[in-house]
Amino acid sequence: MTMLARIVGFAKTSLLDWDGMVATTVYLQGCNLRCPFCHNPDLISISAEVEEAPWEVLKEYLEDNTDFLDGVVVTGGEATQSENLPELIRKIRDLGLKVKLDTNGTNPDMLQDLLQAGLLDCVAMDLKGPLDHQYSQVCGTDVDIEAIKRSIGIIMISGIDYEFRTTVVPHYLSPGDIERMASFIGGAKKYALQQFRNDKTLDKRLSKVEPYSEAQMLGMAETARKYVRKVIVRGI
Ligand code: SF4
Repeated sequence: MTMLARIVGFAKTSLLDWDGMVATTVYLQGCNLRCPFCHNPDLISISAEVEEAPWEVLKEYLEDNTDFLDGVVVTGGEATQSENLPELIRKIRDLGLKVKLDTNGTNPDMLQDLLQAGLLDCVAMDLKGPLDHQYSQVCGTDVDIEAIKRSIGIIMISGIDYEFRTTVVPHYLSPGDIERMASFIGGAKKYALQQFRNDKTLDKRLSKVEPYSEAQMLGMAETARKYVRKVIVRGI
């Protein structure tokens, strides 16, 4: 199912969503996955109950702050579910701003089109789990693994800045899984391991799951460094 980009909010200034950059983060509603650990459950379904933020309001803010902002992070939900995402990104770039796309990697065709059109400066792709039957379990719905693999390949040869990133949820992912995932993206520029937060999740049962300790997260990062050039840990 495709839809039109529904901007449901933007964080005016973020130093966390694009490493080393001052960015505005734009949230689009709608996602094709149902990750039980999703920290933005309000953005998964298309719902008129969440008020739309008009493009004109975002545009006015961006225009007033182009001297201070480095770029815009377009995130979701899953932004590539919006058929007019290229148009939205073009409008942002026309303001002279760089664009980073956050994606779950399920739409390699759109990713390829955006890259070929030179519309992206950076991509962050979620690597949810080991690339086998476990992937759909972690995503809470059936996932086309071949599409995920294609997206990984497209990003790795894109020539732009990128990162793969994993939210390390103890219930779903073991240290051995993280090593297998790092090995799959062997040679990648950057892999970010993100600490799981149990304070707001799509599946409320995960509120009882304790995150891995700092030492365990650092240990997994150390192992991942055998395969990926730069590994960082976020949120510990
Ligand atoms: S965490 Fe999963 S369900 Fe939530 S927005 Fe991201 S891809 Fe969609």
